[in-house]
Amino acid sequence: MAIASINPATGETLKTFSALSPEQIEEKLRLAAEAFRAYRRTSFADRSPMMQRAAEILESEKLALAKIMTSEMGKPIKAAVSEAEKCAWVCRYYAENAEHHLADQIVETNAHKSYVRFQPLGPVLAVMPWNFPFWQVFRFAAPALMAGNVGLLKHASNVPQCALAIEEIFARAGLPRGAFQALLIGSGAVEAVINDSRVVAATLTGSEPAGSSVAASAGKHIKKTVLELGGSDPFIVMPSANLDEAVTTAVKARTINNGQSCIAAKRFIVAAEIYDEFERRFVSQMQALRIGDPMEESTEIGPLATPQIVKDLEEQVKKAVASGARVLTGGRRVNRPGNFFEPTVLVDVDVSSPVSCEEIFGPVAMLFRASNINEAIGIANATTFGLGAAAWTNDTDEQGRFIEELDAGSVFVNGMVASDPRLPFGGVKHSGYGRELAEFGIREFVNIKTVWIGESAGYKTGTE
Ligand code: NAP
Repeated sequence: MAIASINPATGETLKTFSALSPEQIEEKLRLAAEAFRAYRRTSFADRSPMMQRAAEILESEKLALAKIMTSEMGKPIKAAVSEAEKCAWVCRYYAENAEHHLADQIVETNAHKSYVRFQPLGPVLAVMPWNFPFWQVFRFAAPALMAGNVGLLKHASNVPQCALAIEEIFARAGLPRGAFQALLIGSGAVEAVINDSRVVAATLTGSEPAGSSVAASAGKHIKKTVLELGGSDPFIVMPSANLDEAVTTAVKARTINNGQSCIAAKRFIVAAEIYDEFERRFVSQMQALRIGDPMEESTEIGPLATPQIVKDLEEQVKKAVASGARVLTGGRRVNRPGNFFEPTVLVDVDVSSPVSCEEIFGPVAMLFRASNINEAIGIANATTFGLGAAAWTNDTDEQGRFIEELDAGSVFVNGMVASDPRLPFGGVKHSGYGRELAEFGIREFVNIKTVWIGESAGYKTGTE
């Protein structure tokens, strides 16, 4: 895949880049290792103002940064501005909390003194996707850098300008040279970077095959990985739910980021008592969405990031129909230049067909009818993924069952699954392992060092 910015709304190639040569990669790895030797010795008081400065840049330049995101991957401009703001939030969150998250933890044992100390690991490779081209990177970088690691970013090949813009933000924020570098390389060059002894760990946000490949390479060299992979999140609606709120949120949850979000609700499982009403309102709201130029403030659905995603969606809809599904609305690409796809609703999808539980990365929703809570939980868990899950019910017993029994990294009751710097984020099953955000995220790339100090005769004070 070429490293190029191609406007998904028009198909126009905006800029192309040559992938780094092996010599250029070697120079960046050398710089990263050198930067780490000094950077690891900086204190939280040194790092925190740099992270605050990065937040200020993100906030004060959010519109310009948003335009880079939208022109490269097509998200509506309003959402891109919010993404820049959210990145500022995560920078501030770790600037203010990292010292507390990583403070020594005293543990009472038979030692004179024992405690846990958190120390940085070194250069960490981050392999990142295009769908939240800033947020995915900052939610890795803010904690990793505040912990004293240095970062190497291999961004998706269709968002090189985002990668370079992020590198520049950290440089302007005052991070030392080499502490955060973008590597413009294709996915074929990732294994060699992981193999390099100067790279100590890797994190990947992306698809299952990419995650499996990166984890296999890292595993060969006994290097830690964090994987944030795909999802097929269920969105369950029970009879006691507020239907107005549930339907409006359902449409938003399916179509956010033009339907290309790992935690977008993808399967809507609705109790039989309210199913028909839910279906009627859901279809009507999907049909009312404004499709258009993502640079326009009023646009709700922009283009998909690449022509391949449109082809994949067409294929998935075809497969669903072949196995008995009906298309209530949409189902086709939009007849205009760019990678546009109609908001689509599928019903009667065979729950045993692969398409019923695979990830659909676009504005295509599948509706299922459940006769009771057991059936709803069964359908929800009938997928190899386990990222997020939403359940709408005002019945506290039902809430308790969903919280306990849904196989997912997060369960949101009467709300839409979303990430928040204060809460851990990640999945179970094929959605990956490890956690980002909160104090859990900052502890992924640190040496959790046990320190034990004994009372030897000569050392012990205050005796004899
Ligand atoms: P992708 O094709 O897996 O690409 C993600 C990144 O991995 C890109 O930088 C890509 O580089 C690289 N890559 C691909 N194959 C690789 C390989 N074999 N070895 C090393 N690197 C490889 O995914 P995507 O299409 O960009 O993103 C969509 C996927 O990401 C969806 O499945 C979505 O659910 C998931 N996602 C998960 C989360 C989460 O937090 N769990 C968040 C966002 C997205 P190239 O671009 O050069 O191929």
